[in-house]
Amino acid sequence: MAWRSSGGSNQELVENLFRHGLITSPLVKSAMEKANRAHFCPDPSYAYEDSPQSIGHAATISAPHMHASAAESLLPYLRPGSRVLDIGSGSGYLTGVFAELVCPPGSSEGGRVVGLEHIPALRDLGESNFEKGERGREMLRDGKVAFVVGDGRKGWKEKGGEEWDAIHVGAAADELHAELVEQLKRPGRMFIPVEGRMGQHVWVVDKDADGTVKKERQYGVRYVPLTDPPKS
Ligand code: SAH
Repeated sequence: MAWRSSGGSNQELVENLFRHGLITSPLVKSAMEKANRAHFCPDPSYAYEDSPQSIGHAATISAPHMHASAAESLLPYLRPGSRVLDIGSGSGYLTGVFAELVCPPGSSEGGRVVGLEHIPALRDLGESNFEKGERGREMLRDGKVAFVVGDGRKGWKEKGGEEWDAIHVGAAADELHAELVEQLKRPGRMFIPVEGRMGQHVWVVDKDADGTVKKERQYGVRYVPLTDPPKS
């Protein structure tokens, strides 16, 4: 099913994902049209296929339909001005899609997206992929987007101590890490694949305005694990 959405250009790939119902939101469609996947794939000749691609360090850039699904799930918390933490940012592609949603051109709402990696070379990869496009360079320069190094299982605290409207975890965790739930705003939402006895499933964790947390197990997935960094 997924391969049917491949295209000859970024626009065609996104149109096909939309036509096959793998993107349903016009906002996500428009953000994916703006983030050119060729800037984020080591082999740009396969950039417009709906499949994952290795980016080194045992990491992969996920298939576009997986990115679409994550963005759609978090969409109510990806408004202009939202603060988003992308854990396991890898190629930086999804960080870019989030940034198009929360920092649209001309917006003065002050959105921010932080890509967090535990492998310094992948932090650098996300940033250098971003620098390939004019919009990416502008967002880095203006501090709307930043790539940082740390252990994603602990989340990321910024100087002002501000929390996150949305947290995306791009690798499979062993548990619903409490520190991540703590760092969600009221309201806020986290998308996190979790490895359990029945395999990996996406969990969506919602914190409501009163601070009440609801956890929902959704569909089965296959992500690389959220781990300690490799010893070099
Ligand atoms: N969203 C990325 C996915 C990359 S694969 C993309 O599509 O390009 C998952 C990423 O999670 C890898 O880059 C890996 O280095 C990172 N990762 C694994 N464990 C981590 C941890 N504890 N903290 C931060 N990043 C981690």
